[in-house]
Formats: sequence, structure tokens, C-alpha cells
Amino acid sequence: MTALPLVFDAPRRGKPPRHLADLTREEARAAVADLGQPAFRADQLSRHFFRGTTDPAQMTDVPAAARESLTSTLLPGLLTPVRHQAADGGRTRKTLWRLHDGALVESVLMRYPDRATVCISSQAGCGMACPFCATGQGGLTRNLSAAEIIGQAVAAARAMADGDLPGGPGRLSNVVFMGMGEPLANYARVRKTLEALYTPAPHGLGLSQRSITVSTVGVVPGIRKLTEEGLSVTLAVSLHAPDDELRNTLVPVNTRWKVAEVVAAADAYAERTGRRYSVEYALIRDVNDQPERADLLGKLLARRRAHVNLIPLNPTPGSPWDASPLPAQREFVARLRAAGVPTTVRDTRGQDIDGACGQLAAADLAEGVPSVAVVPPEPVEPPVELGAEADE
Ligand code: SAH
Repeated sequence: MTALPLVFDAPRRGKPPRHLADLTREEARAAVADLGQPAFRADQLSRHFFRGTTDPAQMTDVPAAARESLTSTLLPGLLTPVRHQAADGGRTRKTLWRLHDGALVESVLMRYPDRATVCISSQAGCGMACPFCATGQGGLTRNLSAAEIIGQAVAAARAMADGDLPGGPGRLSNVVFMGMGEPLANYARVRKTLEALYTPAPHGLGLSQRSITVSTVGVVPGIRKLTEEGLSVTLAVSLHAPDDELRNTLVPVNTRWKVAEVVAAADAYAERTGRRYSVEYALIRDVNDQPERADLLGKLLARRRAHVNLIPLNPTPGSPWDASPLPAQREFVARLRAAGVPTTVRDTRGQDIDGACGQLAAADLAEGVPSVAVVPPEPVEPPVELGAEADE
């Protein structure tokens, strides 16, 4: 099959159709009333949505005659699975989703003995341009709506409940915003998503805040907003270098928010929540893995409420960089620990299906055509969008 049908099929880019998960409860009740239905149907629909029920025939608590209009108006299918890829004996599953306008995003579900984590995307593509990250290379296509982000978690919860991954039926316990995109550059929708993730049924998935991790390049105003709003989700900051000079090249947004500002914002968040934040550091051979950098990082983070999570670089196509060799990794860990900084090395799941950190590019469509060829990026959008006003 060629890519042409997809190109022609792709409707004009724009806002996804209205969805219950994007509305406030009042708006949802009003929308249901507009269809001549009692307001409590909004709660029923919400329960079905968060349970991952997509077939109107299964919504037996809703009168048959009303199911079609209610679901087509408030629960349009926003995520179409293009394909699943499995790794790690089936315990890791990556899904490529097509959105209403042809944009593509990926999510990865990982089952462990004691938990199940889904890694979700908050944007199609990413505007942060980190040179070692596959997603960063294609640029930003667009922000996802809250319903598009929440839908990835709901699908994962449903897959767990249905026992789609080996080990029988289970429960989704964790969500990490470590898929495509910069969550704090899509603040209002991510905020709405967080609420849906931790709110109990029927209006959410009922996860605990600490089992939800928001990972950011260091969008300082976004970290401050999380702090001001009194959230207690786990914060992860992608530092990758302890010094501005190197960080400017690895995380270009560092020219806007420097290392000192980023850790200060994360400190304030940790102060507020009483919990450690995680510092992510992709170990890149001969780039940021020198013993001196470990010492510098140790000095920076000692006595802060921080935990370092080292990620051996997952090499991405076309990148000249490689993961640090094991002895360099060990030395790095030892020096950080000697400085009193709790440090772990991340287990990288799904490497063989390009499902590991930083590998999500949605560039390998079934048709073999990169997503950017299907959906060209929109004309200039501000890379960082903050505040509900700017968002909608
Ligand atoms: N925009 C968010 C989420 C990105 S993905 C952020 O930057 O935090 C989650 C983590 O994977 C980030 O720490 C990111 O820097 C890291 N990452 C990206 N590319 C990687 C790669 N090729 N190898 C290892 N980690 C990578």
C-alpha cells in the first residue's frame, strides 16, 4: 500500500471533535441537556468513557434510542489504533495512534510484577528540539487535546483490565508523561488530564497523584504553576547536564531557563509536596558522562530533594551519539552516590521496538512514511504555551 490514501484521507487539521473529557462537568451536563436527556446521563457517559467502553451497545444503562446521539456527540472516537508492537515477552506494548486529522502519536504500556505503567504523549511531535531525542527531530505538529491525552491512559487501563498483556487481568497503576511532547508546553490540557487521572470514578481513573509523573525539559513557569496549584504528582526534570554551557546544546530551551532556575523551581515544588523530584540524565558517551560532570552534578544536587535517574542513551537514527559504556556508567553512579545523591539507572523497556525513552517518533507508519510527510507541521506556533487563557 502506498501512503497516498492516507494523505487524501486526512481531514483538514484543526481542533478534534468535541469530547466529554474536554468539558467541565457543568458543560457536559448542559451538552446532554441539549440532546433532551437528563443531566445525570453525563455521569453515565463519563463512567463508560473511563472504563474504556466504546461500543454504544454495551451502554445498557442508557436508553437504546439515545445511545447513538449521546456517544456521537460526546464520545467521538479520537484515537484510532494503527498498530501495536510487543516486546519483552509481550509485557511491553507500543501503540501507534492516528488522530482525527491524521497526526500520529505513540504510547507504551509496560507491565511489571508489581505495577503497570503507561507512557503517554502530550503533543504530536515536540518543539523542544533536543538533538538526542527522536521526537525532537521532527518538530511540533500540534498540541493534543485533553481527551486525546486521557484517551491513551484509558486505553491502557482497559488493556490491563482485559488482560491484553501476559499475566491475566490487572490494573493500570502508573502514568508517565514521557512519550512524545513537552507536557508543560501544553499546560492547560495536561492539567485537565492530571485531574482526570487522579479523580475517582465516574469522572476519572482514580490513580494516586504520586503514581503520575510529569517529565519536563524545565519549563519553569509550568513547574511554578504546578506548585501554585497545589498538585502532588511526581515531577521529573530532564537535566542531562549540570552546566549551562553543555545543557544549552543538549536541551536548547536552557537558553531560556537556565540550570539554576530549573532546579530552583523544582526545589520549590519539592518543598511544597514534601517529596523528591527526579532528575533525568541520559548518559551520552563522551558528551556528558565524564567523571568531572558527575562531580559537578553531585555538587549541584547534594542537599536538594532530588533523585537522579540515569538513562543510558537510546541511540536514535541519524544521531552520532552513543550510550555510555558500562564502566563509565558505573563510575558516574558511584560519584553521585559518594556526593550523597540517591541515584538509579533506568531499566529501558522496549528498545527493540523503538519504544524506549526518546525513541518515539511515529516515523515508521504501516505505510512506511514518516508522520511529517502525512501531516506537515502547522505554520509557526509559539513553542511554549502557558495559561488557560492562551490555551483555549
Ligand atoms: N519533554 C519531556 C518528556 C520527554 S521523554 C522531557 O523532556 O522531560 C522522557 C525522557 O526521555 C526525557 O528525560 C528525555 O530527555 C529522555 N530522552 C529523550 N531522548 C532520549 C534518548 N534518545 N535516550 C534516552 N533518553 C532520552
